[in-house]
Amino acid sequence: MSSPLRLRLTLWYVGAFSVVLILFSTGVYFFVARILVGRMNANLRVTLHTTRSVLARNANQSMVAEALEDPRFPGQIVALVNADGQVLARKPIRSAVAFRLPALPLRASPSPQFYELQESNSEADDSCRGVYQQLTPGAGGGSSTFVVVSASAETIGDQMDALETGLEAAIVLALLVSGSGGWLLARRSLSPLADMAAATERITANNLGERLPVGASDELGRLASKFNELLSRLSASFSQQRQFMADASHELRTPLSVVRTAAQVALHKPQRSDSEYREALAVIEQQAGRLSRIVEDMFALTRADMNQLPLNMGDLYLDEIVADTTRAAGILAQRKSIRIRSQSTGEAPYRGDDRLLRQMISNLLDNAVKFTREAGTIDVRLRQTGVIYEITVADTGCGIPDELQPRVFDRFFRVDTARSGPNGLGGAGLGLAIARAIAELHGGRLTLQHSGSAGSTFLISLPCRE
Ligand code: ADP
Repeated sequence: MSSPLRLRLTLWYVGAFSVVLILFSTGVYFFVARILVGRMNANLRVTLHTTRSVLARNANQSMVAEALEDPRFPGQIVALVNADGQVLARKPIRSAVAFRLPALPLRASPSPQFYELQESNSEADDSCRGVYQQLTPGAGGGSSTFVVVSASAETIGDQMDALETGLEAAIVLALLVSGSGGWLLARRSLSPLADMAAATERITANNLGERLPVGASDELGRLASKFNELLSRLSASFSQQRQFMADASHELRTPLSVVRTAAQVALHKPQRSDSEYREALAVIEQQAGRLSRIVEDMFALTRADMNQLPLNMGDLYLDEIVADTTRAAGILAQRKSIRIRSQSTGEAPYRGDDRLLRQMISNLLDNAVKFTREAGTIDVRLRQTGVIYEITVADTGCGIPDELQPRVFDRFFRVDTARSGPNGLGGAGLGLAIARAIAELHGGRLTLQHSGSAGSTFLISLPCRE
């Protein structure tokens, strides 16, 4: 099957071109016909005028017929005719073409009357054009004598026929040339599309790195580069998903194998003491808890990605949430002799999801406690600047190396995997990602304000709501 678009383009092109050509040729045809008829009428008028002036000078009626002169232009016949169409005199007396009169009676009008007669059935009678005018009374011919000048219009007809044939041939030729030119042009213009289609066919989920040929910087080139940009976004999103899957299975594998080993060790001997079973079950319970936390976090993130994390919006006070979460973190902090100071500028009414907002602040506080050395300090501050609530969590912890700071919000990212692993400080690297997703769900932002050897400061900005 040949390309239907190419065929359609060519047909449109040829169609539009033929309309233009036909309109142009019709215009030329009528223009030329007008010129030829106009020139012939002018010649007829000249002969009529000359004849009338000659006859006007011959007042004697008997002399009128003799005074008739030969016409000025070859092929013309000049005659004197009475009102009944009877020819009183004519010059030349014989001619190859027939002398034909218009429908009788002739009109007695002061201005010349032109007439046109089509080819008659008789072989000799060609189409003709003529002009007549009444002879001035007293100019010898009496009141009912007319001067008639007539000539064959066959030459004009022949010329118009030749013009018509020429124009028709030119139209057919021009359409053939434009049709084949249009076909080639359409093929050339559409060839990038064929290349793009072939390249698109080769692209699958496994080779999203492939790109379409961009070519010239025209509309098709722009389409190709927009498509390539889409591929880049898809490719980034695919590799993010793959990375997420790989990291998730890695995170789940470790606690699972700990559970399995604990169970295997407990079952290895037929009999164990109660305390040994308890110990094994405690390990299993701890790891199962970790597993369910990871799975819940992953689920929450996936739903947030799909905009499906249900938001239970309600009226609340941010200062209360900050105070509650700080108090809860204080219990953990006490074990490391960390001092938590909280500062708030008073009541902070807000509309949001109470549970999620608590989780967001707790995630930051948990990290602050986890990564702050013994006897350190954590400052939690809530203030309102204009229409924004700002919550800062600043610690005197180990800080995050500069080059890793942009990645702390990535899923499963941990600065020090060994220290944060299942038996270390516990996190799976999802806490900050979830906290940021919660801030964004409330129309706000979570950023790492600064981090260094003196500690880290995270900033939550939430737009105040009515
Ligand atoms: P996790 O659950 O492992 O804590 P997060 O997403 O909350 O995961 O944090 C990612 C990583 O960022 C942490 O593993 C830690 O290395 C680093 N990090 C987060 N908060 C702090 C902090 N306050 N001080 C130092 N490092 C931090």
